[in-house]
Amino acid sequence: MQPYQMSIRELRCRLDARELSAGEIFAACMERILTDQARQDSLNAFIEVWPEEAARQAAEQDRRIAVGEASPLLGIPLAYKDNLHLAGRGLSCASRSMEGYRARITAGVLEKAITAGALLIGRTNLDEFAIGSTGESSCFGAVRNPHDRARVPGGSSSGSAAAVAAGMVPAALGSDTGGSVRQPASLCGIVGVKPTYGRISRYGLVAGASSMDHLGILARTVEDAALVLTQLAGYDARDGSSGRQAVPAYSEGLDGDLRGIRFGLPAEYFADGMEPEVASGLAAAIDVLRREGADIREIHLPHFGSALSVYAIIAGAETGAACMGKPPFGIEGTDNGDLNAERLGAGVRKRVAFGIRMRDPAYPDIYRQAEKLRWSITQDFDEAFRQIDVILTPTSPVCAFPLRAKEDDPLPPYPADVFTLSANLAGLPALSLPCAYSRGGLPVGMQLITAPYAEHLLFRAAHRIERLLALPAWIPVIT
Ligand code: GLN
Repeated sequence: MQPYQMSIRELRCRLDARELSAGEIFAACMERILTDQARQDSLNAFIEVWPEEAARQAAEQDRRIAVGEASPLLGIPLAYKDNLHLAGRGLSCASRSMEGYRARITAGVLEKAITAGALLIGRTNLDEFAIGSTGESSCFGAVRNPHDRARVPGGSSSGSAAAVAAGMVPAALGSDTGGSVRQPASLCGIVGVKPTYGRISRYGLVAGASSMDHLGILARTVEDAALVLTQLAGYDARDGSSGRQAVPAYSEGLDGDLRGIRFGLPAEYFADGMEPEVASGLAAAIDVLRREGADIREIHLPHFGSALSVYAIIAGAETGAACMGKPPFGIEGTDNGDLNAERLGAGVRKRVAFGIRMRDPAYPDIYRQAEKLRWSITQDFDEAFRQIDVILTPTSPVCAFPLRAKEDDPLPPYPADVFTLSANLAGLPALSLPCAYSRGGLPVGMQLITAPYAEHLLFRAAHRIERLLALPAWIPVIT
């Protein structure tokens, strides 16, 4: 097995046993990135990589390993979505409006990654300002899906998902306001998790819709996602919504069977509108779990039908406010003048204009209604978690669709997020893992949701399901 195919867990073992060096792991990742970048149909997963500098850092990490330093992610390459500040580096949000901008601060989550020893190798591509679900609105061009380069990878953490799925990096950071970590994870056939609201610091994340913005992790295995979250979670006084709860070792105690975990299938999610192959892939996976003795019941989330509109109104209004904020989108200081609003792309302008109308004092009821319904959606989840432990749903109603297929879609958030955004409205931990492949070889994702701060249970359930389904590991050949 090549280093680029290995899980973080495996890489850690090899590094500790001195069978692989940080330099070798980095070189293996970089070779794939550069080979892909030379192709006409490049995945376009990265906005910037740092080959020389990261190679120097990897050599330095090897020296630290040689003298016995044992930071959990020491020698492990990590990429991050380009809507996070890293002091001294460019920060683009895939927007022309940010051209030439350099970050002055470092995001809390990146500080933690660095402290844990991770080797930051580059900034990944995204939908402009993390608005979108296809990865096509980047000013650097669309990201492609490694499973089929003529299809979208999902979004908005498109580059992070494509890079991990393509074996360019074992894990990457993304942000998730309505599904932007889980939906691309689903379309790219990898694991994507966003923990409880407040679990990972948002300090230094460019704001989208602040009451729903989460940091998340994309990885190829559930255990890897758990390993990384253990390092990145935790309190940060600079984020007003940061949680003070202690961080458990999420990757411990993952083994075992599904006994004792009660799963709920929300009838409303399974009603209609799913692509047949998503429905059949998920049904087959659920059958496997049932045969293994899993306790799976039907539940109800009665306000599910309102979630998309509620999300559109609240996310729109908050994004509108963020854009008008000082500094805009919470972008810290500027070296080269303010964000150039005239250069914002059409999708961002549309979202901001819509959002500003949603808070128009002439129509106070729209926003008030949306807030009320958001409360009801949250109550539905509370009620459900009195009966069951884990909610199981599809992640996306569709598999990866062809590039440019949704170009003229007038809907503010494309309904690709219909199954994911409720967990953002309610701030709940949620994870997507691959559960099937379509006949054409496209991945289908399963989403698990738990009560707040029950990430450990989320990982345990997901890890067991991953084992039971035992889908073949898939990483493309890149030449
Ligand atoms: N696609 C959704 C939107 O456009 C979600 C975006 C996100 O989670 N950042 O709002």
